[in-house]
Amino acid sequence: MPLTPPLRIVDAHCDTLWAAPREKRALHERSERGHLDLPRLQEAGVYIQFFAVFSDPSHAAAGFTADALGMIETFYESAEASRGSLRPLLWRDDLDGAPQAGQVFGLLSLEGGEPLHGRVDVLRSFFRLGIRAMGLTWNHRNELADGQLESESGGGLTRRGRAVVREMERLGMVIDCSHLSDAGFWDLMSQTTGPVIASHSNARALCPHPRNLTDEQIAAIGERGGVIGINFFPPFLRRDEDATIADVIRHVEYIAGRVGVQAVCLGSDYDGISRTPVGLEDCTKLPALAEELLRLGYSEDDVRAIMGGNMVRLLKHVLPNRPSAS
Ligand SMILES: [Zn+2]
Repeated sequence: MPLTPPLRIVDAHCDTLWAAPREKRALHERSERGHLDLPRLQEAGVYIQFFAVFSDPSHAAAGFTADALGMIETFYESAEASRGSLRPLLWRDDLDGAPQAGQVFGLLSLEGGEPLHGRVDVLRSFFRLGIRAMGLTWNHRNELADGQLESESGGGLTRRGRAVVREMERLGMVIDCSHLSDAGFWDLMSQTTGPVIASHSNARALCPHPRNLTDEQIAAIGERGGVIGINFFPPFLRRDEDATIADVIRHVEYIAGRVGVQAVCLGSDYDGISRTPVGLEDCTKLPALAEELLRLGYSEDDVRAIMGGNMVRLLKHVLPNRPSAS
């Protein structure tokens, strides 16, 4: 039975701006390829979709900024073609009032700070273009910090990384710790006081992948009022990689059990993962996750919180106020 009022689903991570052009499909048109597009988000009842702007490490570093601008342009071209159905989420008051049926907010997020080339002024330019979240790194080292694959070196945030984090807080940008090295994570926590998110990471205690979070990291995110988006990639869900919707719920349950249900959200990683759990094959299946949580005895309030409410709470806290007209 669908809930009334409808769920406001939020997904904190997808790679569609990277995948769609490669798959010769447009974000605003329904496709059989990939995991996510606007018509499928509308069918699922997604309220806010985060769109990663990703620096492909196989490309030349000199092109990272142009690559990012191209992905941002892909988003805005689809937003324009959608005639208002897809809108950028820019300001706190965008979230006031009831969502209009069929309208999806896109939140643009840099996955890795490579396009900044270490410059705080370039961060401000990306903010003007609508970027409202950023993870400092993907898996590798850059000017700002060490990524997860560099964890052995023990490196964390650079001085430039610290300056960028300070500016993100001032601007009202969401700080994302997914992909950051372990030392970088703790540097980030020592440099910030507000909530941070892990947009697409799971619990390392359940699945010992370095991209997943330790219990201490989960506790630190939870204590600050942050949220953790459960990643659907089977190798991040279970050791033998044979994942179903029940494995996603295992991570929901584990994180909620440690720090409370208010710290859990979704970070599907759709269009960035080669395989999906059985039952969550594309974004139209997201409501099935809510149905399964309800069936397992989760309260309607908790299901609304996990499926989107927790991230909406965080965004209302972090996002900037709309500049007053002058
Ligand atoms: Zn990622």
